[in-house]
Amino acid sequence: PFYTWVDKHTCIACGVCGATASGVFDYDDEGLAYVKLDNNNGTTPVPIKDEEDFIDAFESCPTESIKKLTLPNR
Ligand code: SF4
Repeated sequence: PFYTWVDKHTCIACGVCGATASGVFDYDDEGLAYVKLDNNNGTTPVPIKDEEDFIDAFESCPTESIKKLTLPNR
């Protein structure tokens, strides 16, 4: 499984991740991305059905703000 969170300090609100993996990412009021699965905590596994889209988003983020973990964040 994958766990993920977004570093909002480096996200530039480009909109790619939510368009690519709408099941995983959403945006706050400033357009900065966060993981909607677990309020950006990185503790809920990415659903199997969203894994491919998640990898696409991870690889497409222009600022490497999407963190990909194989264990829950803690
Ligand atoms: Fe932010 Fe990266 Fe998502 Fe763009 S793709 S909104 S920079 S996290």
